[in-house]
Amino acid sequence: MKLTAKIKLLPNEEEKQALLDTLKTANAACNKISSYAWENKDFRQFNIHKGTYYSIKNSFSLSSQVIVRCIAKVADSYKLNRRTQRTFKPFKAIAYDSRIIRYKLPENSPGRRAVSIWTVNGRKTIAYVVCLHHQKLLQYQKGETDLAYIKGNFYLLATCEVPEQTPIAASDVLGVDLGLVNIVTDDTGQSFQGKELNDLRKKREKIRGSLQRKGTRGAKKVLKRISGRERTTTRIVNHTIAKKLVEKAKVEQKAICPGGEPLEELKGIRDRTNKRLRKSQKGLHNRCGSPPGSFYQLRQFIAYKAQREGIPLLFAPPAYTSQTCSGCHHVGKRNGEAFKCTNCGYNDHADTNAAKNIRSWGRTIVTRPEESTARRTALSCNYIPIVGHVCQV
Ligand SMILES: [Zn+2]
Repeated sequence: MKLTAKIKLLPNEEEKQALLDTLKTANAACNKISSYAWENKDFRQFNIHKGTYYSIKNSFSLSSQVIVRCIAKVADSYKLNRRTQRTFKPFKAIAYDSRIIRYKLPENSPGRRAVSIWTVNGRKTIAYVVCLHHQKLLQYQKGETDLAYIKGNFYLLATCEVPEQTPIAASDVLGVDLGLVNIVTDDTGQSFQGKELNDLRKKREKIRGSLQRKGTRGAKKVLKRISGRERTTTRIVNHTIAKKLVEKAKVEQKAICPGGEPLEELKGIRDRTNKRLRKSQKGLHNRCGSPPGSFYQLRQFIAYKAQREGIPLLFAPPAYTSQTCSGCHHVGKRNGEAFKCTNCGYNDHADTNAAKNIRSWGRTIVTRPEESTARRTALSCNYIPIVGHVCQV
């Protein structure tokens, strides 16, 4: 599976200038390539290459590999639509071919983490820092690397082809309910860090309210900083939750089944669920880094971690999971955090009850192998491939 390792470069002044010059030159080349494509109304990569390669090679001091990546980038940018001419800002990220970038890992160059990278001012060997997790990914580095300039820092986003484990033959399922109050609850009633994060959000919501009323430039600046921090916190919490869940499933040799629609259908969820929420929940709901935006991220994390560990993944359809009694399947009504069945008298925390329902749904799939392949395909609840994943440095 493809994952992305994020690396922070530590260039000195001279190296920094070289990297900036490289970005500037490459993006200027992209603009020239783009105007060729636009003027000739020819957007196929092959034709753009034929029409521009030599003139770019002669007028810009760029390596052939970088030119090829620039042409690909321009051709790509016109795929969405061809109504306007694409232009590229001077410091936009550019892609590096694996031939012009080389990672020196501590194993083969003891004591020094550095990357040898082509720039317009010659090859540079630049020191970098990387978190332990991404350092492990780097040993599988394969293919393209993006050089990005973000808020005054340089990052490399390296594509890594990480091996997957053979999926285990699970005969049981770990049902997982994703809720607004307890972010994650499994079918054993264990909940994973919901309260702290929600408390923090509520607190920030309050600060945000007073800052918005103020409306000054300084206030806006603080607002931006808060939302950035909130995204980072959510990201870390989601990574932790996903990791714990996948570990639990692995120890118990179970498949994981988070409630909710398969990943690709989640994007529109914000508009649909908003109608059903109380006013007090809406702020929590729509904020960047809050559910369901953060649910999408959490599910992505669960999906790729499960895939890497060979844990089968199913997505349970969300209908009635929180309103059905897990004891007798009578459809009742949840009352806040409590679920009480009016038919059999079963009593449980509403999220745990939902997780139990999700588990029994999942079990019908994993315990009936003769049906499972067809049903998995029909419900698109097989692995969802994750294109790229970046976590905070
Ligand atoms: Zn019941």
